[in-house]
Amino acid sequence: MKNTQLASYFLIFSLLGAKQFAQAADPATADQPIVAPAEALSRLKEGNGRFTAGNPQHPHESADDRKRMATDSYENAGAIPLGMTSEQAAKRRAELAKSQHPFAIILSCSDSRVPPEIVFDEGLGDLFIVRVAGNVLNDEGLGSIEYGVEVLGARLIVVLGHQSCGAIDAAMKTVAAKGKAPGHIQSLVTAIKPVVIATPKGDLDTMIKANVKHVVDALRSSTPILKARVDSGEVQVIGGYYTLDTGAVTFLEGK
Ligand SMILES: [Zn+2]
Repeated sequence: MKNTQLASYFLIFSLLGAKQFAQAADPATADQPIVAPAEALSRLKEGNGRFTAGNPQHPHESADDRKRMATDSYENAGAIPLGMTSEQAAKRRAELAKSQHPFAIILSCSDSRVPPEIVFDEGLGDLFIVRVAGNVLNDEGLGSIEYGVEVLGARLIVVLGHQSCGAIDAAMKTVAAKGKAPGHIQSLVTAIKPVVIATPKGDLDTMIKANVKHVVDALRSSTPILKARVDSGEVQVIGGYYTLDTGAVTFLEGK
């Protein structure tokens, strides 16, 4: 083992503590259930379905009152509540304090109208999330996603764009004007610019979806960690588009 490799393993070991690193190295341990990509995607679709139906269950965080509310309300009549008693919620927090096993990774925009836990109706410990305007991929974001896969065992990565994305709009306008955005906002423009150049006649919606696809492709081909796992089918990277008007996420499935 090279010294640099050794150093990086030591760093991960230090960050995680011995127990979690051992679990990460052996994902088959009983307390780190691996959720397959297809099952993870189903869970996200079900959660978004609850959200758009006005029937969110706020898993893992509910107190008795919330559970009663979920069971008794007109909107939730007949629904099986995912909410917990306050004792169960406390137990969940205690478990999470020891380790986390999120079932999906989301790279989404910072936009205040698209918080992943809310739009997918998920709770504490469910989603490992990277948020940056325009859902662009930078090295720190990529490192975070690799950590989510390698160490935490998540097997589905969703790149989530959304209707009326201001970052994409700003990039289109800045590139069209051959201008420069103020301050560090320009770094977002620089990240999105290749998509704008490659999609010359695209409107904002087309560009938002093209940007999602661009980031999905970048993740799928990213070496040394993600590509091999994607090629083997162990990890799936998929694009999504959130419609502000309806709350629905459409998954841009396929290659
Ligand atoms: Zn946005």
